Amino acid sequence: MQFIPPKEFKAKLIKKEFLNEEVVSLWFKPVDAEFKYLAGQFAMVKFEDKDEPEKFITRAYSIASAPKENGEFELCLGIIPNGKGSTYLNSLTENDLAVFKAPFGMCNIKPENKNNLIMVATGTGIAPIKAILEDLANNNDTRTIDVLFGVRKAENLFYLKELKDLAEKLENSSIILTLSQPDVLSWNGHEGRVTAHLDSLNFDPLITDFYICGNGEMIKEVREFALKAGIDKKNIHVEIFD
Ligand SMILES: Cc1cc2nc3c(=O)[nH]c(=O)nc-3n(C[C@H](O)[C@H](O)[C@H](O)COP(=O)(O)OP(=O)(O)OC[C@H]3O[C@@H](n4cnc5c(N)ncnc54)[C@H](O)[C@@H]3O)c2cc1C
Repeated sequence: MQFIPPKEFKAKLIKKEFLNEEVVSLWFKPVDAEFKYLAGQFAMVKFEDKDEPEKFITRAYSIASAPKENGEFELCLGIIPNGKGSTYLNSLTENDLAVFKAPFGMCNIKPENKNNLIMVATGTGIAPIKAILEDLANNNDTRTIDVLFGVRKAENLFYLKELKDLAEKLENSSIILTLSQPDVLSWNGHEGRVTAHLDSLNFDPLITDFYICGNGEMIKEVREFALKAGIDKKNIHVEIFD
């Protein structure tokens, strides 16, 4: 199994872009070390606690981009009002430095695993899934991939162009967008929570892996569905954000 030992390094913010009112994309370039990771892994950011100067705290953020030769990586940050980590990261401006320890996590696809994929995400849980999809697309992967991505309202959607482009490159993939609280009349996608659409998926449990990322409650429900459908628990990979 591939293991990359985590290490601490500094990285410079090179690009910051709001994807909607509450989600921001942050691109970092490592400056004092080479950084390697596997698609689906996460980084810990370390920063000073504003409420207790000289006390450092850490928060985990999945890497939203496939590995690149130059080590640059993207985070997809949900802004939590008064949240320490998200307020810190969102306060950074281009050329600011941040301290990371990375990579961590097991939510990556082993090179020998050629199983089909069902990937389920809510909100910023799409971050590691986007990284994995980009990595698969870079490798011209042809397995069957179904992605279920849910947010509350149309205004909360993001990465639409990126996901559409990935679905075109990954020839046997489909992306289902669903709104739990549809708010625009023009919405002609799916409605309801991601879990409401699991039954519509056709898959062979013996050759399918599940990747589930986002809030714990949704993950529990999807995991139960997958287990009932006959997916082996070693083929269910989760990243719980809360
Ligand atoms: C492995 C892993 C990967 C993660 N990847 C990402 C990622 O890619 N993008 C991302 O945005 N986050 C990600 N998270 C969540 C992230 O680590 C933080 O928990 C999140 O940013 C909130 O931290 P904070 O310091 O801003 O808020 P805190 O200061 O920890 O919390 C402030 C208040 O907000 C509440 N709160 C915390 N999280 C939420 C939430 N999601 N919604 C509503 N209220 C909340 C808390 O209960 C608390 O009351 C990941 C977590 C894990 C464990």
